Amino acid sequence: MKSMYQLNQIPSSRQIEKYIRRIVFGKNMFCPECRSRKVVRYEARYRCLRCRRKFSLLSHTWLGNMKLHYEKFWMLLWSWTCAIPIKQTAALTRLSEHTVRHWFGVFRAHLPRETHVLERIVQLDEAYGKGWSLVMAKQPDSRKVAYVILPERSVDRQDAVKFLEQYVKPGSKLHTDGAMIYRGIERWWPVVHGTDIHAKWEFSKTSEIEGTFGNMRTFIRRMYHHVTAEKMPDYLREFAVRFSSPEMFKNPKYYLQKSLMLAPTC
Ligand SMILES: [Zn+2]
Repeated sequence: MKSMYQLNQIPSSRQIEKYIRRIVFGKNMFCPECRSRKVVRYEARYRCLRCRRKFSLLSHTWLGNMKLHYEKFWMLLWSWTCAIPIKQTAALTRLSEHTVRHWFGVFRAHLPRETHVLERIVQLDEAYGKGWSLVMAKQPDSRKVAYVILPERSVDRQDAVKFLEQYVKPGSKLHTDGAMIYRGIERWWPVVHGTDIHAKWEFSKTSEIEGTFGNMRTFIRRMYHHVTAEKMPDYLREFAVRFSSPEMFKNPKYYLQKSLMLAPTC
């Protein structure tokens, strides 16, 4: 867990501006409209000498409408990368909970799309909530997870098979609990199936995926307090990226590097 010590190390506006310029434009400024490098700066903005467009560091990124001061923005993003709960972040940044919730949603929406196909050994299980069910799998001893959220309150074999077709490599060992939907699953998708019978206190084959479900529930409860069926896909995606790519959350800089860069010059 990161300490509050780091909060005192929020860089200065000038430093943040420098980071952002480097991330968005690389070493040399260019016009985001016509890519010309003939660009002049005036006050906080830039102007292209070729196409005459004006732009700012963020105007052509998804942070184009950001009106917060850089330091406050950084503190907000820092809080999100550290998974500081909404309420605490609001107190810390002196922004309203509504604003914090909005920005956390924006950060979440710009996480990279990840898809993992699992192989070798795959642990698969389901979880249920109000108005949603979740099928999730994990490849043990790796950070690879795959999942699908269903709007129904139950999962049937067809859902499980569809999930396997998409996310589990043929020939893998599939470990599940003894639920009916997995009976004879190897006839529907080529896996070697093994089960734990929970009634007999067997848990070892599915312990990692059960641990992952536990982490997910703790994360959502701690950070967002509760989850609606509507928000579930968003929160789950955030959880999954945090789980698979923890390096993105070490520092606001890493997250911005992955999410903010303008497309490279063709
Ligand atoms: Zn231009």
